[in-house]
Amino acid sequence: MIQNMNDAAELNNGVKMPWLGFGVYQMRDGAEVGESVAAALKTGYRSIDTAAAYNNERGVGRALAESGISRNEIFLTTKVWNSDQGYESALRAFDGSLERLGTDYVDLYLIHWPVKGRFVQTWRALERVYAEKRARAIGVSNFHIHHLEELLSESKIVPAVNQVEFHPFLLQSDLRAFCRDKGIQYEAWSPLMQGTVLREKTVRRLAKKHGKSAAQIIIRWDLQHEVVTIPKSVHPERIEENSLVFDFELSNEDMALLDGLDAGKRIGPDPDNFNF
Ligand code: NAD
Repeated sequence: MIQNMNDAAELNNGVKMPWLGFGVYQMRDGAEVGESVAAALKTGYRSIDTAAAYNNERGVGRALAESGISRNEIFLTTKVWNSDQGYESALRAFDGSLERLGTDYVDLYLIHWPVKGRFVQTWRALERVYAEKRARAIGVSNFHIHHLEELLSESKIVPAVNQVEFHPFLLQSDLRAFCRDKGIQYEAWSPLMQGTVLREKTVRRLAKKHGKSAAQIIIRWDLQHEVVTIPKSVHPERIEENSLVFDFELSNEDMALLDGLDAGKRIGPDPDNFNF
């Protein structure tokens, strides 16, 4: 059982990744992302999830440097954007991310979306930065089973992580089981469905029952499913609230009620049908 904020998933190469991290999507570079990351670090988060496409890697890097926390206590994830996919361009994109983040390695480098006809070549670039020890682990995001099958059939290194949309309205149990079988850690993006799932009445009823907030119920549900989760907020009180999930437990019945909300409903695009 996951007991506290320092608990970490062991990835398929032995690297430890905190179960609970902090996402910075849609935060403006500069003060907004800087203050939010500073608040998260102060609260105790040690895992930060950004992407080249978020245009805030510089602010993340600055906040990490200013925190005074040793680099090796931080787990830093970033991602290669679609327009940079391909071998040489992904290598260049990686160098750009390191420069903006002000670091000489990342803990996890992800292919942001499975760009058709290009993600296998992009993976070659990730395998190279991994071999060079400039990424401690490499993985993918938004990959369906067929994308993973294609990647696995053409490469030696199994992705350490698949970061996908995950919340009670979108369980994708087949994908989760596939990842578990292959040793690919499942990671939730938009775990709170950007706030939408917090209004659902079962979620509210469970919040009342446990004397916790709706967000805490969902984050706890992620952890009990052994899904790495990275909720986002720019408000220090919510950043802290989202971390206070280790003093209660959802019963099997509670878990089943939340699982029962699955409707295959997405807030983001389907990875088989995106146009960016
Ligand atoms: P989220 O599901 O984490 O929801 C964040 C929103 O929920 C906030 O903006 C706020 O409106 C609300 N919220 C947060 N805490 C709350 C609280 N305690 N009480 C009430 N409301 C609260 O949304 P997200 O930012 O889309 O996803 C989290 C992270 O996942 C991102 O920041 C990013 O790092 C990652 N992500 C990755 C991808 C990808 O394609 N790989 C896509 C989307 C997001």
